[in-house]
Amino acid sequence: MRIFKGIAASEGLSKGKALLHVRSTMVAEKQHIMAWDVKEERHKFRTAVEQAKKALEEHQGPEISAEPAEILQTHLMMLSDPEYLAQIDEYISTNLVCAQWAVESVTNSMVALLEDSPDEMLKERGVDFKDVSLHLLDALSNRNRRTVKNLTEDVILVADSLMPSELFSMDKKHIIGIALDGGGRASHVAILVRAFNIPSVIALGTASQKVRDGDEILLDGNYGEIVIRPDLTAVQNLNERYARWMEHEQELRQMIDLPTMTSDGHEVLLKANIQTVSEVDSAKEVGSSGVGLFRSEFLFMDSEGGSTEEEQFEAYRQVVQAMAPLPVTIRTIDVGGDKVVSGMGIDEKNPILGWRAVRFCLSRKDIFSVQLRALLRASVYGKLRIMFPMISGVEELNAVLHLFEHVKEECRIENIPFDPDIQVGTMIEVPSAALCADILAKKVDFFSIGTNDLIQYTIAVDRGNEKIAHLFQPFHPGVLRSLRMIVEKAHQANIPVSLCGEMASDPLCSVLLAGLGMDELSMGSQSLLQVRKILRSVSFEEAKQLADHVLEMDSYLTITTYIREWMHDRFDHFTTI
Ligand code: PEP
Ligand code: MG
Repeated sequence: MRIFKGIAASEGLSKGKALLHVRSTMVAEKQHIMAWDVKEERHKFRTAVEQAKKALEEHQGPEISAEPAEILQTHLMMLSDPEYLAQIDEYISTNLVCAQWAVESVTNSMVALLEDSPDEMLKERGVDFKDVSLHLLDALSNRNRRTVKNLTEDVILVADSLMPSELFSMDKKHIIGIALDGGGRASHVAILVRAFNIPSVIALGTASQKVRDGDEILLDGNYGEIVIRPDLTAVQNLNERYARWMEHEQELRQMIDLPTMTSDGHEVLLKANIQTVSEVDSAKEVGSSGVGLFRSEFLFMDSEGGSTEEEQFEAYRQVVQAMAPLPVTIRTIDVGGDKVVSGMGIDEKNPILGWRAVRFCLSRKDIFSVQLRALLRASVYGKLRIMFPMISGVEELNAVLHLFEHVKEECRIENIPFDPDIQVGTMIEVPSAALCADILAKKVDFFSIGTNDLIQYTIAVDRGNEKIAHLFQPFHPGVLRSLRMIVEKAHQANIPVSLCGEMASDPLCSVLLAGLGMDELSMGSQSLLQVRKILRSVSFEEAKQLADHVLEMDSYLTITTYIREWMHDRFDHFTTI
C-alpha cells in the first residue's frame, strides 16, 4: 500500500482500477552507439514509425469529426514523409547516436526552421512535427500515450500531466477519478475536472511512477489523497468518509432555492462558471443567479462544439435561452497559455506571457469578428453580456470596443437583430489592469476579476506548476490590496464587480470576498451551495470587519491562519483549498 498526498482538485471519492496515462516528453537521452549497431538502431526506428502509424490509425473512424480527422491524416502523412525519415536515418549513422536522440534533434531543427517562417501554415506544421515526434518517442521508449476512448469499464486515470485538450477528447463516462502528478488548483485542467464532476487529486509528485495498470486505487478528492493497492482498513476508512460526505451534500441541497443573503440582508449574487453548453443544467440545478463566466474557448476544443459562426451562435443561444431571464456573461476566446487549440498556430516558448486572449484576438480579427457576430446574434434570446479577457490597459480595451462597434454596425447594415443595450465588461486579471481600474471602469458596464491569473501575475507564480503551488496564495497582502482597490474604483464609477477566479469557490475566502464588497461571485456549480451556506450565516458587518482587519496584516501566513481560525469558530464543516 502507498499513500500519496496532493491537492484536492475536484470533490468526491472513488475506488477503482488504475488506467495509466503517461507520456514522453521531447527530452530524449543522448546515447552513443557503435558503428556496427547502426543497422539495428535504424531498424528500431523504422519499427517505431510503423507502431506510431498503427497507434494513430486506431483513432480513425466514422465518429471522429472533420478537424481531428484532418490532423490525424496530416500526422500519418508526416510519418510517411521520405525526407523526414531519411534525415533521421542519416542522423543516426553520421552521429552514431540512438534513435530517440536522432528523432529529437532532427525534429527540433525542422521545427526551428518552420517557426521562423512568416507563413502561418508552415508555423503550424512545426507544431504537427513536434506532435508526430512525440508519437515516435513513445513508440521508441515503449511508453503508451493512449487517447482514452471506448472504455468499457470504470477507471481511475493516473497521469503525469494532462492537457485540457486531451481531457476533452477522452471518454469521460467511465473515468471515475483522476490522479495527476502535476498541476495547480487554478490550472485549467483542474477547472475542467471540476466542471466534469470527476473526483480528482493533483500535484501528486511521482505517484504515476508507483502505479501499474489495473492497480486498485482509492481516491479522495475532498482531502487530496490517493491510496495505491489499499489494505482493508484504508477501504473501510474511505467508506466512512463517503457516508459523511453524502450527509454533508444532503444538507447543502436545502440551500438550492434560497437567496444568498447575509443575516443582515446584504445580497451577493452567486453565479456559475461553465465551459460547455451542457453545464447549464448543473448551474440551474443549484439555483445560480446566472452564468458569470462562460469560457468560450473550450467550444473550440470540444468535438461537439465547433468554431464556425453558426456553431458558436447555436451554443451561445442555447445557454442564453436556457438561463433566461437570468444573465449569461460570455467571455470572448481566451486561447493561449495552457489552452492550446489545434489549428490556431499557437506554440510559444513563454505562453503564459505570450499570445493569449485579446492579444491573440486583436491580431486574428477574422476569428474574433466571427465570435462577436455570433454573440450579438444570440443576444436577442435572453440577457447576454460580453466580457474580454487579459485586458492589460486602455489601448487594448479601446481596440476591442472599437472592433465591437464595427461588428455591431455590420449587423445593423445586414439587418441582423441584436440587443441594443448589450452590456460589455472587462476581466481584471493583469496587474496593470488592476492598477488602472479607475481608467478602465469608465469604459465598461462591469468588471470581473480573474484571480487565477491575477494571482499568477501579481506574485509571479505559474498557476499550473505543482513545484511552486505553495506560493499561489490568494491571501497574499499584494493580492488582497489589489482586490480592494479594484472594488473601490469600480464602485466609484458605479459599476458592479464580480470575481470569477477559483478563489470565489473556496469556502475559506467567501466571507472575506463579501466583506471586500464583491457584488457577485462566480464559480463552478459544484461549490455554489457551500458558499451560499456560509454567506447566509454571517452578517455583512462582520464580513467587512474581517476584511478590514486582515488588510492590516503583513503576511499571507498570518492572514491564512487568522481566517482559518475565524471560520473554524463559526462553521463545523467546509472544504477548502
Ligand atoms: C481567471 O484567470 O481567474 C479566470 C477566471 O480565467 P481563466 O481561469 O480561464 O484564465
Ligand atoms: Mg484568466
